Formats: sequence, structure tokens, C-alpha cells
Amino acid sequence: MSKTFIEKVAQKLRIIPNLDRPDATGASGRLRHFPEPEEWHDHVELDANEWPKMVEKRYSLVPTTCFNCESACGLLAYVDKGSGQVSKFEGNPHHPGSRGRNCAKGPATINQINDTERILRPMRRVGPRGEGGWEEISWDEALDEISTKIRDSLKTGAKDRVVYHVGRPGHEGYTNRILKSWGVDGHNSHTNICSAGARTGYALWHRHDRPSPDHANAKVILLTSSHLETGHYFNPHAQRILEGMMDGAKLIVIDPRLSNTAAMADHWLPTWPGSESALFLTWANMILEKGLFDREFVEKWVNWEEWLEADYPEEPRSFDRFIELLMEEYSQYTPEFAAKECRIPVEQVIEVGEIVANAGSRLATHVWRAAAIGNLGGWQVSRTLHLLNVLTGSVGTEGGTSPNSWSKYKPDLFDVPPDPDGWNELHFPPEYTLYH
Ligand code: SF4
Repeated sequence: MSKTFIEKVAQKLRIIPNLDRPDATGASGRLRHFPEPEEWHDHVELDANEWPKMVEKRYSLVPTTCFNCESACGLLAYVDKGSGQVSKFEGNPHHPGSRGRNCAKGPATINQINDTERILRPMRRVGPRGEGGWEEISWDEALDEISTKIRDSLKTGAKDRVVYHVGRPGHEGYTNRILKSWGVDGHNSHTNICSAGARTGYALWHRHDRPSPDHANAKVILLTSSHLETGHYFNPHAQRILEGMMDGAKLIVIDPRLSNTAAMADHWLPTWPGSESALFLTWANMILEKGLFDREFVEKWVNWEEWLEADYPEEPRSFDRFIELLMEEYSQYTPEFAAKECRIPVEQVIEVGEIVANAGSRLATHVWRAAAIGNLGGWQVSRTLHLLNVLTGSVGTEGGTSPNSWSKYKPDLFDVPPDPDGWNELHFPPEYTLYH
């Protein structure tokens, strides 16, 4: 019988979980992680506050989402059937991303609900800015006041006086459409100083601006920059990185800092900040020199003919000639070059480069934000990192790296409003499900 996730983790950590001790209800048998969905409408638990008395409490378990980071893990709200109040949050085992495993911030959502300083109604400043004076107003007043100001600006032609700022854009484009309909180019978010660099590099490759690595099925997991256990996304990704490692994947971490992730890595390369692209170009050169590139994939999906046309118009339009010229261009990126730029031992450049070059179609890569936005030209980090996936043919493969929208539902938004006569024929692309 295959091992459960918990049993695999226990084995890795060399601990033996006591799965046979009595459970919370006193019945012996394996520990139960979550109530079954059939019980969600009427779940019974003992009231911990009444201990040692055995007082039962009844709950409705309502699926909801944690938004304490962009991972948007699943939660179950335990709604007390007596008071109608949420008593606590636990993970939702049926959520496809988090699968019931949340970080500490998920259950801590209860603190936000009960926060006595939570703002529940619109507030308008009273007196000078900064003095802390506020008055409560109705939603109608708030909407009227704000929309009047926006309308007044638009009517005078002062479109640059309307700016929409959103911390984390969690919508699928309709807000931007409203701004466009106003003629306003004023969308702003934290992305400008966070992921914009990395997104640019990916978008230049395949329009989709982020990667979706299949860590769980990878042979080699290559992570760059401050990431995962140190940033958001860390929970669903970390679960799958652990699964990949337990199935034998090698974890390579490129980070100047000995982060939590780096501490768990098989290979940690503390490269000098801003030098990452030099390393990736060197590994690209190694893949080419060793003949380990995926010829079929590159020939089919890379616009090599256009490149020959642009840079070598006198050369024959053959794929073999393209590879020769590419190798000539990349020959300057030697292990010694990377070692000097990155300030790491040349032996490490070669040793880890061999692992990457031999990953084949199961190379899962990701870059986080420090490398790609914290340095001039950082967008080249994601561009050169993804080059490794393209050369090894590990794009869209099991254990490889997909464009992010390939493994989730994404509505195909139209740019021109459809003719009402055709509303019945509106359709969305098929939902992609890859290797989860
Ligand atoms: S990783 Fe933690 S904070 Fe982020 S959505 Fe999941 S539970 Fe919430």
C-alpha cells in the first residue's frame, strides 16, 4: 500500500507517528485529520472550554478561502450552530491547492473576524489629514462622494488625476476594463516593485507572465532568489517540493542568503546578487555542448528561423546551422565566466550544471522576486532561467514547468463586447488540468 503524505514526512524526519492511539472521541484507530464532508452540515466536537466536562458543540462547516496571502488556501469555517458565529478556521482537505494543510496564518483568520478595530463601514476623514479624526458615513454617501470626484475629474479631461491602486490584483480583468472605458491609464499595484521584472522575462517567451512548475513530479527542482518558505505561495508549493524530494528529486537553491529553503537544498549556490543570468547562460551552454537539448522541442517551438533571418541573413535556413551558430554565440559563457560573475567555486558551477543539463523534461524551475526586480536588468533572470526549460524541452511536461495559466481555469475575456444576438454562443476555453 502506498504511504500517506504524513507517513512519508515521518519517515523523512525519522519519527514514528502513533497512528493507533485513541482519537478525540475515545475510539481507537487511526487519527482522523478532518471531518468527512458528509458531516459538514452537522459536525459535533467537544467544547474545549468546558474541559474536563464532556460538553458537545455542533457546527456547520462552511468552505471558504484564506486571503492572508495570494496562495488563497482553502479553509473550513466552523460556524457554531448555537450562536451562528464562526468559532474557528481549519484547513479544507478538499481544496486542490492546499489540501487541508495551511500555514499558521490560515487558522489565525479568526483574529481578523474578531478584531475590535476592524473597519466595517465607510469612514470619512474629519479635520486635517494626519490628525486622526474620522466619522462614519453610509455606503450611499461614500459611493456618491467618490463617484462625483471621479466624474468631475473625467469631465474636465483630467484623466491623469484618477489612479486605481490595488495591493494584489485578484480579479480577472474587469476592473481594468472599467478604467479603460474611462480612458484612464492609472492602474497601479505592488507588482511594479515586486514581480514585474520576472513577469516581463516570461511574457517575452510565451505571453504568460509566470511559471507553474510541477515540483511534485520533477527530477530536478531549481529555485532562484528569495522564495517559497520565505514568501507567499510557500505552502502549496512547499508541499509539492517536499513530495518531489521524497520521490528523489534534487533541490537546487540559488540565493545569496542561507534561507529556510536553501538550508533544505541538496545544492545551495550563494551567487552574488545580479549575477544569476550568467549562471543560467553557462548552463545553457553546457546543455548545448553536451548535446542534451531536446532537438524536437526546440525545432518545433523556438522561432529559430526568424532569428537566423534577423542576425544571420546570409546563413542557410537549417536547424543544424542554427544550433552551430547558437553554440558559437554562447561559447563565451564558460563555467569560469559564471564562477567569476557569481563568486562561487567553478567546481560548483560544473557539478550543479551537470544535474540541470541531465534533468531532461522533468526540470521544475521558479524565480522569485529579489533577483528579478532588485537588480538592473533583472528581467533577464527569468528569461535566461526559462531558456533552460526550453532547451531541455521541459515546458508543459510532467515534472517540468508550464506557463502559469495552463494549469488553472482562466476565462477567455473578450476585448469587444459580443453582439447580444451571439450571447448563446459565448464559450470559454477548456479547463486545463496538468499533473496535480
Ligand atoms: S499560505 Fe497561509 S496565509 Fe497564505 S493562503 Fe495559505 S494559509 Fe493563508
